[in-house]
Amino acid sequence: MIQRNRKETPMSNPKIGFIGLGRMGRPMASNLQRKGFATLSYDVNPQGVAALVALGGRGAASIEEVARESDIIFTMLPAHPEVRSVVLDGIVPHARPGTLVVDMSTIDPLATDEVAAAVEAAGLGFVDAPVGRLATHADRGECLFMVGASAENFARVKPMLEAMGTTIHHCGPAGAGIRMKVVNNYLAIAACQLNAETLTLAARFGLDVERTIDILNGTTANNGHLKTNFPVKVLAGDIEPGFQIDLAHKDLGLALTSASAMKVPLAMGAAARECLQLARSRGFGGKDFSALLDAWCDLAGVAAPRLPSKS
Ligand code: NAD
Repeated sequence: MIQRNRKETPMSNPKIGFIGLGRMGRPMASNLQRKGFATLSYDVNPQGVAALVALGGRGAASIEEVARESDIIFTMLPAHPEVRSVVLDGIVPHARPGTLVVDMSTIDPLATDEVAAAVEAAGLGFVDAPVGRLATHADRGECLFMVGASAENFARVKPMLEAMGTTIHHCGPAGAGIRMKVVNNYLAIAACQLNAETLTLAARFGLDVERTIDILNGTTANNGHLKTNFPVKVLAGDIEPGFQIDLAHKDLGLALTSASAMKVPLAMGAAARECLQLARSRGFGGKDFSALLDAWCDLAGVAAPRLPSKS
């Protein structure tokens, strides 16, 4: 195990709690553990906890146990109902004063505000640090974080974010990180739906998919997902998540709900969300969001294109 050169004081060697060990949380907690931060982790699914225990971490039997024993608690949960319940019902009543709660989930910004206010009213600290990039980046410890925090809380959490990621943006006070994340995912996911429609049209034209990708990536049509995700996921025949269409649908909903409350029209996003809904209604909800291509080809009666196997 790599040990960091840190002083053995409670502030410099805090006890880390981690709740939510799914596709993202498990590799992120694993990177903390591997890089010398002792973790106490919990998930309703015991498989995630077992993976952390295998790396030398400790498993908790309940959220309450994590709350009682940790100085800094990270949550990486699906959506705001889970974050509300874990933080407000599980952490707040049992954590020691001064404990820092760091929510890295992608949730409704208004829920972040509500949770932050309740956490701070209980004498704890709150940071929102949602994550950009793909699950494969989380595997490699290359996450990008969009952080909402006071200067003091940002300094406290930065060493752990550096163990899980390579790029850390302090966006402003608590609540600013999740708002930046909603903006980022709005564009990323709407672009993903456009990629799916574009490649469906190319397949219907009978165009070679490898050449199509090369050309699109060499013009202003290029975008991150077409370059980094489609070639290694759906176009390689792998549609397991990654990032589920169900979660992408949730994220577009977060942008649309927030925008609606502020009277900001998001016309393309509204259409994109219904396209994702269509994919979900056809059984693609649990698949990687690049599988929007397969859903669209299915709808259009076109054989889903695949890149030739490298082997
Ligand atoms: P996931 O569904 O794989 O993992 C969620 C985990 O939370 C699961 O292991 C589940 O058992 C656990 N959980 C649910 N309720 C719980 C509770 N009450 N107590 C304890 N554990 C509970 O989801 P994920 O892909 O890891 O995504 C997590 C968050 O990160 C989501 O908000 C998502 O939008 C966001 N995100 C995902 C990606 C990605 O590429 N997968 C990238 C960036 C951000």
